[in-house]
Amino acid sequence: MKLRQYFGVVALSTVALTGCTSTSQINNEAANSYVQVVEKVRSEGKIDTTSRTAKRIYRVFNKILPYAKRANHTGVPFQWQMTVAKSKELNAWAMPGGKMMVYTGLVDKLGLSDAEIATVIGHEMAHALKEHSKSSRSLSIATGVVAELGKVALSTQGISTNFGGIDMVDFTRDLALDKPFSRHHEAEADEVGLMLMAQAGYNPSFAPNVWTKMTKVDGDVGISIFSTHPSNADRQAHLQRLLPNAMKIYKNAKK
Ligand SMILES: [Zn+2]
Repeated sequence: MKLRQYFGVVALSTVALTGCTSTSQINNEAANSYVQVVEKVRSEGKIDTTSRTAKRIYRVFNKILPYAKRANHTGVPFQWQMTVAKSKELNAWAMPGGKMMVYTGLVDKLGLSDAEIATVIGHEMAHALKEHSKSSRSLSIATGVVAELGKVALSTQGISTNFGGIDMVDFTRDLALDKPFSRHHEAEADEVGLMLMAQAGYNPSFAPNVWTKMTKVDGDVGISIFSTHPSNADRQAHLQRLLPNAMKIYKNAKK
């Protein structure tokens, strides 16, 4: 039996190295990483389920969830999960398979409305739905996910410190501190996210405002969060082009 298990492990790592990893495999790896990240946050007493901000985040997440499920064309159902972390950091991320975290700092410091929270959550959901971490990373994604874990664990150590993990680059630090996704992926996440929020009944015309608020904070702290693509202007222009269609969806959802 032992031998069999051993070969099982070897087979798995060979799969990882050759890059023949399936969506469900990647999602499982991510889910395992997520459990550990959440445990770490929990051990620091930083999981927030009770604050007004946390309740708003969970409510928006739950409202968009049915539409995210419907928009899943990966062939593998996601076990969506949201955790709100009590932190001054401006951050939000989604792992493959729909494991998400939003930091209270993002909502509190930017003073996000519910529609703006929906913009962020929709955008992050879209990255997971479109499997951006799969295509933008090397094919050895399974090993990549393991590497992510190390970085996420590190960055959550600094969870109470503002911008504590600034030098750590990983795909989960999507909105806040760097832009590991390509311009194309960001544009796609903006578009899919916009439609998701509209379907859920959040006015998509508030979406561009989130990026304006981000840029302002960016300037305030003197860190060039948006130095990488897409530029805020590009992003705004793209969202404006998509708005007429999103508004139609929104108005239908409101009926
Ligand atoms: Zn993004």
